[in-house]
Amino acid sequence: MTTTRLYYADSYTTTFDAHLIERATYGNAPAVVLDRTYFYPTSGGQPHDTGALNDVPVVDVVIRPDDGAVLHVVAGEVSGETVSGQIDWTRRFDHMRHHTGQHILSQAFVRLARAETVGFHLSPDSVTIDLSRAVKPATIDAAEDLANQVVAENRPVRAWFPTADELSSLQLRKVPEVDGKLRIVAINDFDVTACGGTHVAHTGEVGVIKVLRVDRRGDTVRVEFRCGARALLDYRQKNALMNQLAAELTTGIEDIPAALQRLRDENKALRRDLRALQSTMIEYEAGSLWQAADRAGGYALIAQVFEHDDAGRVRQLVQDLIARPGTIAVCGIAGEKAQFIAARSDDLPHDMVAVLKRGLAVWGVDRGGGRPSFAQGGGAAATPDDVRAALAAAIEAIRLQDG
Ligand SMILES: [Zn+2]
Repeated sequence: MTTTRLYYADSYTTTFDAHLIERATYGNAPAVVLDRTYFYPTSGGQPHDTGALNDVPVVDVVIRPDDGAVLHVVAGEVSGETVSGQIDWTRRFDHMRHHTGQHILSQAFVRLARAETVGFHLSPDSVTIDLSRAVKPATIDAAEDLANQVVAENRPVRAWFPTADELSSLQLRKVPEVDGKLRIVAINDFDVTACGGTHVAHTGEVGVIKVLRVDRRGDTVRVEFRCGARALLDYRQKNALMNQLAAELTTGIEDIPAALQRLRDENKALRRDLRALQSTMIEYEAGSLWQAADRAGGYALIAQVFEHDDAGRVRQLVQDLIARPGTIAVCGIAGEKAQFIAARSDDLPHDMVAVLKRGLAVWGVDRGGGRPSFAQGGGAAATPDDVRAALAAAIEAIRLQDG
């Protein structure tokens, strides 16, 4: 014996009594079959209802493929042979509004862009339809206007199982591939389609229909939209966000894009100024390091310890130093990922890769390399004392190479 699906004829009843005719399981959860139910099982892109049976929460509702029975998956044992059902109306009504809103919007896209709806998805987070072809932004707006006009006209919505004769006289927007009798949902003089979902009785109940975004997905186009309370919530959140942005930018909402552009331009100019200042500072620092260099070997030798410095900046500093003839620079940056740089000007013969390896050996590291004139490595943690020890070893290696 399968379940009589009372929601087909009546989407509004939320409390009912029924006989429990089978106790089953679904996955590892207990489930019950009733002789009749108003609970909507997940199908046709619409999620299941929630609620309670004898005060035990109903957490899922599915159709059993074998016999079409409606399985109410429950959070505990449902005792007794007669049960009292209670459906969560907020969730059900939200589904009714969105499913009816979907029919209206789908028909609007057919009329204005000959775009068929090839997919429908309804979840607590998003509601989407997939259209068979791309639609221009102006057409999206026009479809939205037409849909909201149909809502404002408060047209009756009728759902029924027509006879074969009646069915053949109907112009259906979409004919699904299902066995058995087709259920028809008609929005007066606007849309006729086959659908098994729950819908409102008059289009006015849908409330505002708002398209949020349109995304190309290969050959189809995904249209995300919201109806009624969800659309209001979205508007409320976005309005609060816009007001907050306007307040933070001390401007009007319509001037936010211009204010952001000004900030972007300002940021770009500041970065440019900062880069110029950093270059000047590096030149100055290089000049003073070079002045104070050890010249005992007949060349200027700079050995320097840095702490928590930027490797890119130190690299630039070293490059600035070795641009001067007769110069060798060995620098270490202490930190979690310490770096070591060994470099010389082009006029000197020293092999700085060998010097680098000698310095890194003090840290027990062999990640590093480069050219004879410029070598860099590191990656392990090193304290300033570790850096000083590595510099001492590197200077020793340089002196050994002196001609
Ligand atoms: Zn529907």
